[in-house]
Amino acid sequence: MPQTISPAREPQASAGYAAATFTNGYEFTQGSGYTLPEYPFTEPPELATGQHARHPVVIVGGGITGLTLACALAQLGVAAVLLDEDNTVGVKGASSRGICYTQKSLEIFHRLGVYERIAAKGIQWSVGRTFAGEDEVYSFDLRQQSAYNLSSQPPFINIQQFYIEGFLVERIYELGHVDLRWQSRVSAFEQDAGGAVLTVETPAGSYRLEADHVVDATGSHSPFRRWCKASVTAKKGDDRWCIADVRFTKRPPTERHTWIEAPFNDNRAVWQHLMGDEVWRIDYQMAPDADPAYVSREDVVRERLARQFGPDAGVEIVWVGPYAYRSECIDQMRHGRVFFMGDSAKVVSPFGARGGNTGIADADNLAWKLAAVLRGQAAPALLDSYHQERHEAAQQNVLVTNRTARFLRPADGVERLFRQAAIGLAKQHPFARQFVNTGRMAVANPYTRSRTCGSTGGLSVQNVSFEWADGSPGVVNDLLQWAGGHLLLLVFGDPGATAMRRLRALAGGAPVRCVQVLGADDRAAAREHVRDRHGHLRGACHVFRHAWALVRPDSYVAATGEDIDASLVRAIEKSLGADQEAA
Ligand SMILES: Cc1cc2nc3c(=O)[nH]c(=O)nc-3n(C[C@H](O)[C@H](O)[C@H](O)COP(=O)(O)OP(=O)(O)OC[C@H]3O[C@@H](n4cnc5c(N)ncnc54)[C@H](O)[C@@H]3O)c2cc1C
Repeated sequence: MPQTISPAREPQASAGYAAATFTNGYEFTQGSGYTLPEYPFTEPPELATGQHARHPVVIVGGGITGLTLACALAQLGVAAVLLDEDNTVGVKGASSRGICYTQKSLEIFHRLGVYERIAAKGIQWSVGRTFAGEDEVYSFDLRQQSAYNLSSQPPFINIQQFYIEGFLVERIYELGHVDLRWQSRVSAFEQDAGGAVLTVETPAGSYRLEADHVVDATGSHSPFRRWCKASVTAKKGDDRWCIADVRFTKRPPTERHTWIEAPFNDNRAVWQHLMGDEVWRIDYQMAPDADPAYVSREDVVRERLARQFGPDAGVEIVWVGPYAYRSECIDQMRHGRVFFMGDSAKVVSPFGARGGNTGIADADNLAWKLAAVLRGQAAPALLDSYHQERHEAAQQNVLVTNRTARFLRPADGVERLFRQAAIGLAKQHPFARQFVNTGRMAVANPYTRSRTCGSTGGLSVQNVSFEWADGSPGVVNDLLQWAGGHLLLLVFGDPGATAMRRLRALAGGAPVRCVQVLGADDRAAAREHVRDRHGHLRGACHVFRHAWALVRPDSYVAATGEDIDASLVRAIEKSLGADQEAA
């Protein structure tokens, strides 16, 4: 049963900076195989000159979540400081944790200017096959599914997590605005109505840093949970796995293969995926009482690989790491000035690639809100919608991954019986395939509880293509870039002269940029217009007939409507938190 933990330990006294060596709680015990980049420690102004500034945003943690936030803020021109206790990306001594990045994350990375680097290094895939014993139970091709097929980004790219983190660091240095401080460990924290103060340990000594907003992106062992007395709903199972990252001379197909019951792994589950550098991740489910040291011994791993691929597969072992997982969700993602995101807010099992992908979405959700509030273009109440939206997503992801975990490691009795029945039926009847659960791949979570989204809003907009007024091709992210962190109002068809006058007045007074979206044969009534010849933009915004869609900088629809009237003005106020301020 899930239990609620409310740890209340006080922060430890500072003991000076010691180089980071730990693996952030994932039970990796050995291996290397990659050389990670090292970033220099620079003495901060607080230590070098004794200068103490107050920072609008301080991000703690330079993993995939903190770096995505830093990059998004940098692109919006918002000054921030990022503190990371280490001097590199990835996890020292371990291989990559994350490997699969979903379309929504790739669209975010496209907006941030790192997608091309990811696409060049990573592997695109869309076909998945699931096996039980010797039989293929079912297969899918994500490209055939309407949820994926319109975006200019593919359904998934597989790439080692540290590459993405490294590209984000490069991009942040290119963009400026964010001060990346390496070898800077936060060892204490306090906040009150006047501000937040962080104690930072560095190789040059410790200092205090003042902040208005603090983002905790320190991962699954977040000290901020303790400092903020944050309660967490948690669950730990006994499922154990062992990763073998390998290269082959005889290359398997570029598809996601999963076995629920693999005959070559004592009828336990196995995952098989290709990532960058021709490295395959083979993930073997182990017995719950397996000894991590034994199952990751080289001779034992080689024997396991030979059972699956035959003795002549030409296997080069890049890295081996046994791990266990747990499931946790913080009950409040905002505690005063602190916003929890990524693994510090929730930890899920790796099934369906929901960990890092939702950390990326957390970051994208908060970035534009912080920027809008700091520029005075939105009410501070907008920041509360971060919890409303991302906690709903976190709970959904915990629920979905826990279901998969139970399917893969069913309790004896009814759960095991159900699994046997599902596998048996799925082999013969297509309707039963939905019950076979080897991981539901990460999606862009909808927001149904947000006070800032209308009843038709809260849905992600795919990065679909259209034509600019001069006929050249564009995608949604170009429009968002053009909107520069403002809301984007897309008006479909010709709304008439009165509506156009109202729109011009609205655009003059509110942080909104308006664009008329023409169908194949419509005539332009506004100077700013694009052509949606195939209706992809309309479909992506979830609107039908003449209508408008208010799109947020994180490419989510805030609201849609039929008429250019007071309802649109209210939707704009609501999406910027202004209605809550007035209430
Ligand atoms: C086997 C495995 C496979 C996975 N596969 C996938 C996948 O395919 N796709 C996916 O999306 N996710 C996957 N995940 C999950 C994913 O790896 C995590 O969700 C992700 O790393 C979380 O990122 P984060 O930035 O929130 O935290 P972390 O990556 O843990 O980063 C936290 C950062 O904070 C820093 N830090 C910690 N404490 C302090 C402090 N006091 N002061 C300063 N800095 C500090 C650390 O140095 C670190 O850089 C997988 C996980 C595992 C274990």
